[in-house]
Amino acid sequence: MKLKPWVKFLLLIILLGIIGFGVFKYFQKDKETIDNSLLKEHNISEKYASKTLEYVLKNNLYDENYLEEYSKIEFNENDNFQDIITTFLPKGYSGEEINYLFNLSDTNLEKLKEKDYLDLKNYYQIKNFNVDNFDRYNAYYAQNNYSYEDVVTYVNIKLDLPVYTDTTTVSDPDSLLVLVNKYNCLPKDYNPKDTETLPGAYGNNVPMRKVAKEALEKLQEAVTKEINIKLLPTTAYRNYNFQNTLYNNYVAEDGVKAADTYSARPGCSEHQTGLAIDLKNPATPSSYRLNESDYEWLKANAYKYGFIIRFPKNKEFITGYQEENWHIRYVGEEAAQIIHDNNLTLEEYLDLYITKY
Ligand SMILES: [Zn+2]
Repeated sequence: MKLKPWVKFLLLIILLGIIGFGVFKYFQKDKETIDNSLLKEHNISEKYASKTLEYVLKNNLYDENYLEEYSKIEFNENDNFQDIITTFLPKGYSGEEINYLFNLSDTNLEKLKEKDYLDLKNYYQIKNFNVDNFDRYNAYYAQNNYSYEDVVTYVNIKLDLPVYTDTTTVSDPDSLLVLVNKYNCLPKDYNPKDTETLPGAYGNNVPMRKVAKEALEKLQEAVTKEINIKLLPTTAYRNYNFQNTLYNNYVAEDGVKAADTYSARPGCSEHQTGLAIDLKNPATPSSYRLNESDYEWLKANAYKYGFIIRFPKNKEFITGYQEENWHIRYVGEEAAQIIHDNNLTLEEYLDLYITKY
């Protein structure tokens, strides 16, 4: 279609008009429109004019001590806008710091209200920040060479505390994401209700939770098809009393300190959940569990079936256990995928993705 020159010209004019209007609107929006008579009334110089200042003046919240700070606080429609500025300016927070407080969760804000001024600038961008742990973060940061992000995660999972000193009793032992470690232990009488068995490496029947059993069967099928080996469970679900005997035997042999690095205290073993499974390739000599190539396959593929390598190499300081390439844990496919892709432990995953602060 060919357009006459005057039609082209007209279209160009219209286009320029639209752009010009947009630009005008943009700058108009950016400029604070505030009622100057309000400023005059309070004897305030126009250079302080801002939406926030207008808001505090109109709502009788104005305090001349904070005149400078009002102009730094970006006005927003938050329900707690008034609450935040009236609570935190008197505590000594600057306008810039208050802008950050709007990003905090309600839970963190409530906790922060109860405290005197805290310098939060190192934690502004950290989503798993928990006001409760503020002093412990700073202490842990001073003692270690970690980033603030890592410090927050590590303190949240209690790595700054000696093991078995501040143990929590797990409240949701049936959850597929249940965390059992040296800080989180199961009730003594907890037993999973839905265990089923699979043939084990030593001719035994190995009990585990149904969901883990079904996933393990799929994993077994895949590993046989792909690298032509068998992976059989040696042990999975273990009750409290069994773990008690096991642990006490290890202590008798090696002492508490050494035993704690490879065996869980009763109640604090993931095996009691019925979701943890120790595997063995029956073709390996009896003292070996897996060949290196079996482990490589497991590391690359277990997540597809909802399992994670629970105690990987280089994460001993987080899991509290030396590497156990044969110990897998069912967490479900979604969690397993994230843990695998981001090279996380279950502890880190829960803190970064699941726990709400
Ligand atoms: Zn194990």
